[in-house]
Amino acid sequence: MKAEYTDTPDPVPQRLRALRKDSPELCKAALLYESLLPLLREADLMVTPVFLTSDQAMRKLQSGLPLLFDMELGIDLTAASGLMIRLARVLEQAGVGEGSSFSARSIRLAVKEDRLDVGALLAQAASEERGAITSTALDLDLDSGLLWTLTKDVLRPAFREWRRQLTPLTEDILWNRGECFVCGASAILAELRDNNLVRFLRCGRCGADWHFSRLQCLYCGNEDHRTLSYLYTEGEGEKYRVEVCEKCKGYIKVITTFSPTPPELLQVEDLATLRFDFIAQGRGYSRKTDIPAG
Ligand SMILES: [Zn+2]
Ligand SMILES: [Zn+2]
Repeated sequence: MKAEYTDTPDPVPQRLRALRKDSPELCKAALLYESLLPLLREADLMVTPVFLTSDQAMRKLQSGLPLLFDMELGIDLTAASGLMIRLARVLEQAGVGEGSSFSARSIRLAVKEDRLDVGALLAQAASEERGAITSTALDLDLDSGLLWTLTKDVLRPAFREWRRQLTPLTEDILWNRGECFVCGASAILAELRDNNLVRFLRCGRCGADWHFSRLQCLYCGNEDHRTLSYLYTEGEGEKYRVEVCEKCKGYIKVITTFSPTPPELLQVEDLATLRFDFIAQGRGYSRKTDIPAG
């Protein structure tokens, strides 16, 4: 496993411009990302450094535990609140979607006026406790979906930093699971590289990538080719497809790429392939990264 991305030309604005041109229906969302992504990139949450020896890292992975499992993770709360306020302000000004300006404004003010416990929210988002965030939102009359998304976004720069600190330890370690070996989040996308012979999974939270068998369902481990298949659209099968498993009804979107997608572009690629979510979900498959509200 290796993951360090120090690309010199900035691929993000370029990719977003192409997306706006190719998919006019995603134009508003792409414009929004153009404003949000630089905030996430520039954010310095002053995370506490994480340390593991190579032996400790290897033992954790061999026991099936992600590297960050059980580690003390520290983020500067003033910096995190500031980032949440800046992200909410962009959404407020963009006003995409019905009521979202109002929802974003309400969250921004709740953070600014200290009515929201940002530390508790971050801890809940880090352990995927959506229910707890939903009840906080209900108590304060805030949009629970937006609060969940914003809190997860605030965490992204921190997890990326921890991933950068830890991945040099794990060059040759095997990890055959659908959850990220660094942070434990479910894979957001799969990539086929090296002339389609090798499949990698990507983590949307920390940006990690890891090799995963091509002929296996990442959710249930099913290896029976009769119950694993692809969905794709006319003319796009080479570049984009969806892998589906009949056994667990899970799906994951797959992109063919020459080189690993830079971490901050993963969300953009997820957006760019939104139509495949509709196709797969329309046929009764679900992406196991989607945690139901409640
Ligand atoms: Zn991760
Ligand atoms: Zn499955």
